[in-house]
Amino acid sequence: MMRELNDIYDVVVVGAGPGGCMASYASAKNGAKTLLIEKSQEIGEPVRCAEAIPSIEEFGIEPKPEFVRNIIKGGILFSPSGKKVIVTQDKAQGYVVERKIFDKYLAIRAAKAGSKVVVKTTAIGLEKDGDYWNVIVEFLGEEYCIKTKIVIAADGVESNIAEYAGLKAKKKPLEVCSCAEYEMANVRLLDKNMMEFYFGNEISPGGYVWIFPKGDTANVGLGVRDRKKKAIDYLEDFIENGMAKDRLKEATPIEFKVGGAPVSGPIEKTYTDGVLVVGDAAGQISPLTGGGIYLAMDCGLIAGEVASKAIKMNDWSEKILKEYEDRWKEKHYEYLMNHLKYRKILEKMSDDELDALAEALGESLDGVDLKKFVKRIITKKPSLLKYFKDLL
Ligand SMILES: Cc1cc2nc3c(=O)[nH]c(=O)nc-3n(C[C@H](O)[C@H](O)[C@H](O)COP(=O)(O)OP(=O)(O)OC[C@H]3O[C@@H](n4cnc5c(N)ncnc54)[C@H](O)[C@@H]3O)c2cc1C
Repeated sequence: MMRELNDIYDVVVVGAGPGGCMASYASAKNGAKTLLIEKSQEIGEPVRCAEAIPSIEEFGIEPKPEFVRNIIKGGILFSPSGKKVIVTQDKAQGYVVERKIFDKYLAIRAAKAGSKVVVKTTAIGLEKDGDYWNVIVEFLGEEYCIKTKIVIAADGVESNIAEYAGLKAKKKPLEVCSCAEYEMANVRLLDKNMMEFYFGNEISPGGYVWIFPKGDTANVGLGVRDRKKKAIDYLEDFIENGMAKDRLKEATPIEFKVGGAPVSGPIEKTYTDGVLVVGDAAGQISPLTGGGIYLAMDCGLIAGEVASKAIKMNDWSEKILKEYEDRWKEKHYEYLMNHLKYRKILEKMSDDELDALAEALGESLDGVDLKKFVKRIITKKPSLLKYFKDLL
């Protein structure tokens, strides 16, 4: 460990979540001398996630039984009064993974591509040193200074690294969805391949409740953007008194998870001289669903590619690193901004309006073409036009 901490690098990646692991994989694979730093003593721990991911094959990752716990074929959405909308997507399938193993697998993949990895090492500062950055880290009570040309900040929702580099990345508390979750055994599922989502201003204001089947267990959790009660109190309430209470009667927790999802959309700027920001740290997470694993992985991959290219060009100024933002925005910006708009609409709706919305959508939907749904909603429930007219 100490040898790694005393070396000089082309690229230092802070944070070994899906974003950081993919960034260090791509950076090392393309020949840059790369170090991945993780503050936890074990990559993948603690888990702060419901562990559902739409696709991994496109990253060249096989859905291995060692981390895939379940295959997902769609979702069942419940309105506040219990109206059901079943969403499936032809041919598409996703996975519920064991993040503890999946994140480790991604880190091992980065190591196999040539990245060094250090754990129990926290980045506590960043200083400009000519064309280099000095990343100040703490390992077992000692401080070390790691010199690098490029820093990739993949340090999650509580990111400090981007701010240290002068980028505006701090999330305001109400822009973060506060989440609580139990992984539970003995949940009686409606369908072992369908995720369940429950909406309502009473049960989960500004968010939703989820039950995600995970093989022998299920992740039962929620996110709220209201500080009247703690997320865990809303969750206990749902388990005791909510719509699924009969199916949760026998359920018992085997793990408790808390965390925050930054749902305010992407930060203003994700690059500067010798610095790139990736994943939750950059707000690359759906403001509507809170899904961020896939986006963190994809943006991480782009960041690693752009960083290693800059090293080859011997120019890691922001002029060159801008390619990262251009590329991730071209792929994901519209999606993120649309999801932000839809989230803002949903959180203005009363429970009666959420029921009307479910009625308008109908009992089953094929695909997730939100624009198509908007047309259907306002044709069937003109009273909801006020919310959706700007989206037409
Ligand atoms: C309760 C909950 C449920 C969720 N469910 C889902 C879901 O089902 N599907 C989905 O797609 N998304 C989900 N998300 C979001 C998803 O977890 C994140 O979007 C995803 O993990 C982002 O990846 P990341 O690599 O950007 O950050 P993270 O996974 O947060 O990784 C950041 C890493 O950086 C490390 N770190 C932080 N600071 C430092 C430092 N100073 N020095 C060194 N290391 C540091 C952290 O320890 C951590 O390992 C959920 C989020 C929450 C809170």
